[in-house]
Amino acid sequence: MPASPDPVALAARGPWRAVARGTGLLAADPAGGERIAPTIFAEMSALAARTGAINLGQGFPDVDGPAFIADAAIAAIRAGRNQYPPGDGIAELRQAVAAHQARHYGLAVDPDAEVLVTTGASEGLAAALLALVEPGDEVITLEPFYDLHAACIALAGATHVPVALRPTPDGFRLDVEALRAAASARTRLILVNDPHNPTGAVLTAGELEAIAVVARERDAIVLTDEVYEHLCYDDATHLPIATLPGMADRTLTVSSSGKTFSFTGWKIGWVVGPAALVTAVRTVKQFLTYVSGAPFQPAIAQALADDQSPRELARSLAARRDLLCDGLAAAGFAVTRPRGTYFVVADGAGLGFPDGADLARRLPDLAGVVGIPLTAFCRPGSPTWQALRSSVRFTFVKREEVLREAVTRLARLG
Ligand code: PMP
Ligand code: GLN
Repeated sequence: MPASPDPVALAARGPWRAVARGTGLLAADPAGGERIAPTIFAEMSALAARTGAINLGQGFPDVDGPAFIADAAIAAIRAGRNQYPPGDGIAELRQAVAAHQARHYGLAVDPDAEVLVTTGASEGLAAALLALVEPGDEVITLEPFYDLHAACIALAGATHVPVALRPTPDGFRLDVEALRAAASARTRLILVNDPHNPTGAVLTAGELEAIAVVARERDAIVLTDEVYEHLCYDDATHLPIATLPGMADRTLTVSSSGKTFSFTGWKIGWVVGPAALVTAVRTVKQFLTYVSGAPFQPAIAQALADDQSPRELARSLAARRDLLCDGLAAAGFAVTRPRGTYFVVADGAGLGFPDGADLARRLPDLAGVVGIPLTAFCRPGSPTWQALRSSVRFTFVKREEVLREAVTRLARLG
């Protein structure tokens, strides 16, 4: 073994290399060859820290969630809930998740057989993909897509088939024809993300029904990432695809407490679905982390009984979305108004920036702000990548005074 083994060569020994290629983690090294890069979120947060720019890149709130939830976690630590919890998650949290699905969506869920607590939505998604797809299977996602989705499809060895969301005056919309054309006899799983990161789209009943039709025709499983389920604005409402006729039997719903309660670092997530599918996910999950977050699980069980704080968060985020969208538009960006999530997509082409990745790298110098280029959420060179090449994602989950300062700075760009 050489003194400093080459990480690229080491990574080539696992499926990791394909993951890196598919997601831009493996980048051309200026000195020649390839180097392993951090995720775009880590890279851009480091850029913000280095330059002192306002970080509107990585999506995390700059204030903590409700004090009663933090107090519940502290009380759980003091009460000695610090050893391994049960593999499925503690009963009170599984019951709270089932009650939440019933209360909000009318879904009947058995807390013992149909709920699995995971290390954030991330582990639920990873375990589901590793359990349910294999080489030769095709997985359809929307494009742009959250980076972890593409990475875990690659880790599972399956083939990623992205379908475009396109900017329209009514937000980003699913190309239903492209979805039908993308489906094949090899389509094993359709990975939905609704409300959608990075576009802020909230899928309509018609779009969800189009996905359901394809899933039924191809006998595909639907895996749906609904971590922004409570962050919908204006007249948009979240409709879980599992509520559509016949869909509960073939749908795994993944969500987490991070976004809903503003504790993104706690990583308490869950997977809900038919017992056989949840059992398949558990089979993998037990060998990833086994369990995690013992004292946070009872705290989130209490949080889930409270519908008031997510409603207040959505109301406040809608106002902050308006502030940032108006500021970006005044600065000269073409803004596609989001109806959900933490994020807005802004196109810098009209300001003379045809390359969003270049703009994102220069933005700390130009305006003291950091954003994430949309190309990081696209397959390199795809038609969607081309269409969104000049766009940057900004988050509005920051305090109002921070957003005001950011839009003042961005106004300099014009
Ligand atoms: N899915 C999407 C669409 C996300 O934006 C994120 C990041 N917050 C996750 C999953 C990961 O969620 P968690 O932090 O609960 O693992
Ligand atoms: N979900 C967050 C975002 O999209 C980032 C989470 C992460 O850094 N992996 O910005």
